[in-house]
Amino acid sequence: MSTAPKTAAPAAGRAATKKELPEHFKAYKHVWVFIEQERGQVHPVSWELMGAGRKLADKLKVDLAAVVIGPEGEATQSAATEAFCYGADLAYVVADSVLADYRNESYTKALTDVVNTYKPEILLLGATTLGRDLAGSVATTLLTGLTADCTELDVDSDGSLAATRPTFGGSLLCTIYTLNYRPQMATVRPRVMPMPERVVRPVGRIVSHPLGLVEDDIVTKVLSFLPDRDSAKSNLAYADVVVAGGLGLGSPENFQLVRQLAGVLGAEYGCSRPLVQKGWATSDRQIGQTGKTIRPKLYIAAGISGAIQHRVGVEGADLIVAINTDRNAPIFEFAHMGIVTDAVRLLPALTAAFRARLSPHSRDRIAS
Ligand SMILES: Cc1cc2nc3c(=O)[nH]c(=O)nc-3n(C[C@H](O)[C@H](O)[C@H](O)COP(=O)(O)OP(=O)(O)OC[C@H]3O[C@@H](n4cnc5c(N)ncnc54)[C@H](O)[C@@H]3O)c2cc1C
Repeated sequence: MSTAPKTAAPAAGRAATKKELPEHFKAYKHVWVFIEQERGQVHPVSWELMGAGRKLADKLKVDLAAVVIGPEGEATQSAATEAFCYGADLAYVVADSVLADYRNESYTKALTDVVNTYKPEILLLGATTLGRDLAGSVATTLLTGLTADCTELDVDSDGSLAATRPTFGGSLLCTIYTLNYRPQMATVRPRVMPMPERVVRPVGRIVSHPLGLVEDDIVTKVLSFLPDRDSAKSNLAYADVVVAGGLGLGSPENFQLVRQLAGVLGAEYGCSRPLVQKGWATSDRQIGQTGKTIRPKLYIAAGISGAIQHRVGVEGADLIVAINTDRNAPIFEFAHMGIVTDAVRLLPALTAAFRARLSPHSRDRIAS
């Protein structure tokens, strides 16, 4: 049985609606990526999107631009200059002290103003908490379409953005076109696109755009900022080694075996969705379509069947090792190595073996 999702025949559906692009669409040119930064930190998904955006721009033979919105100062400027190292031809910068903290009103105003002024044909944002919030309100304000949580981005023969995403619970992939509106907007979750190589390049053209808003115009006020002090919070999406467990482990106690192996390997631990639903793990540990997308160098999946909704979150892993009692489990169709055995017995043995062989120093090196 193949669990690979099928693409829902977009070409046929599209052919029926395809028509000459309106004349005023010609004013919309170039591919833009919103560079998400909070408190001076650029979210890595922005650079991943620069890689995807570069490919689209090259196909369309247009420029790739970064859009940086933030407070005046060093961090915002350096986010713009860093964008050139990830392939930007130019950067639009809206810098104003009222943009120090993300607020939907001010960021929506900043982004929609720049879009209305310089008219990109494609605008990409990360499907992060901030990106989802901003993309929705920007698309609504601009009265254009938005395809959320895309897994593939391409351009069609007529230059339209072909934005592909899972649908029907992940069993189908559909390709969505924004035929009648501009810009064509899409969000992509962290780790779905590969991280492009950073190449030091000379700083390109930076276009500054005024915000045209003062603090009194903004209803939402930031009273204080509470940093996330939860040291146990997962870094699953960007971990190099991930060990995950599924329902096959049989009990929350057995799920601890996954955590123990992850601990010895210096890895992050994760799980399939039913474990979150049962309360065996917190939702930030869920891997898959409605959880995190991961791209580790090594992924060990214990007692996980490999349903399509889980598969889409792990396919980018360099090496997938599956442990399952059922040799016909779907996970063996895409795992690089399969072990047909009882994970509850194997996991402690693996933990003991790695503990004996790995010094703390060499554990750090597993990931490198
Ligand atoms: C809209 C939607 C979104 C979803 N999103 C996600 C998502 O983000 N992530 C996700 O994971 N799922 C998601 N799901 C659920 C998904 O469809 C599957 O139900 C889920 O992934 C199955 O979890 P599992 O593999 O742990 O359990 P099961 O499918 O029950 O598989 C358990 C596996 O363990 C094996 N097993 C049993 N005993 C042992 C043992 N002792 N040792 C080793 N192996 C053993 C079995 O052979 C079986 O293959 C989603 C579903 C829907 C409809």
